[in-house]
Amino acid sequence: MSSSPLAPQHVRDLAPYQGGKPIADLARELNLDPASIIKLASNENPQGLSSKAREAMLLAMDGLTRYPDDNGYALKAAIARRFAVQPSQIVLGNGSNDILELAARIFVTPADTVVYSQYAFAYYRLATQAAGARGLEVRAVEYGHDLGAMLAAIQPDTKLVFIANPNNPTGTLCRPGDVLEFLESCPPQVLVVLDEAYVEFLPPEKRSDTLALLQRFPNLLVCRTLSKAYGLAGLRIGFGIASPAVAELLNRVRRPFNVNALAQAAAVAALDDAEFLRETIRINTAGMQQLTEAFIRLGIPFIPSHANFITFHVGDGALLNQYMLEQGVIIRPLTNYGMRDSLRVSIGLPEENARFIAVLEAALGG
Ligand SMILES: *Cc1c(COP(=O)(O)O)cnc(C)c1O
Repeated sequence: MSSSPLAPQHVRDLAPYQGGKPIADLARELNLDPASIIKLASNENPQGLSSKAREAMLLAMDGLTRYPDDNGYALKAAIARRFAVQPSQIVLGNGSNDILELAARIFVTPADTVVYSQYAFAYYRLATQAAGARGLEVRAVEYGHDLGAMLAAIQPDTKLVFIANPNNPTGTLCRPGDVLEFLESCPPQVLVVLDEAYVEFLPPEKRSDTLALLQRFPNLLVCRTLSKAYGLAGLRIGFGIASPAVAELLNRVRRPFNVNALAQAAAVAALDDAEFLRETIRINTAGMQQLTEAFIRLGIPFIPSHANFITFHVGDGALLNQYMLEQGVIIRPLTNYGMRDSLRVSIGLPEENARFIAVLEAALGG
């Protein structure tokens, strides 16, 4: 951590976000053939790019000499159509992390506090700290959000609550009734950010109807991303949906042209590619079964997941992770979450899952 006195203390104390290890890094470090490496570390879509998104980007190439549409007219129209909201309720982000960061930057001052759960997505703490505010981390229950305790943790100086539903890295889910109860009891001067990065993987009956809730709760901000189910992680595109008043504030403060032209074009096409989304869910459902069956067969405890990854418990996470890396399999250590005995694996294609399972089995037996 840098100790440059040029920055304020809360910035000097920041621990940077740790992403999944890129394939090229591992190939370089261990002198492996990149083609022999599989990456199941960042909850990316294993299906590859939507062909509709690819075509849309090729068409958009001709316009790249111009700045993108700062208001994202076509993309907001597509989102509005798809989710039955108004374009004035939408803010586009350079990934949904952009929206999460904006929320902390806009609604929180260094005098305020932010509530989030133990084991919740690591970026909440980072965004809070970067805003100079104090985070109130609420103890998890069975690795999931304890919404009652989070409500009780709200102080007069609390301005923001982050809820990941489903949560990363634990895959836990809050029930629709509990989410509704939380919103009903939450003080209206607190912004509630419902981060639904994995909502597409949920069957309809497990989903909170958060977009309908926006009508009732002007302090609600729903965040969605095209990085996971829609398969566009490398383009950096996500969005927030809120009351027009909240969306307007976010749009005022976001950087001009924060979403590039290729991302906007691809997102419009991806949102419309129902077949791609269906196939994504099919691959994920099958992979979830393949992996959970293996964990059960091998006697490895895991957290039942509602997303496109599974966190499982081993004795020494760092040791197993290192073994996996040497075998060309990149998964995610969770040391930065204080879960030293756990690792997270993203669900891949059947053959990728099989290779992960084989290496895991070899590690345990060998
Ligand atoms: C992946 C993820 C995001 C989104 O990331 P972007 O690529 O920035 O859209 C947001 N929240 C959670 C919980 C995630 O796991």
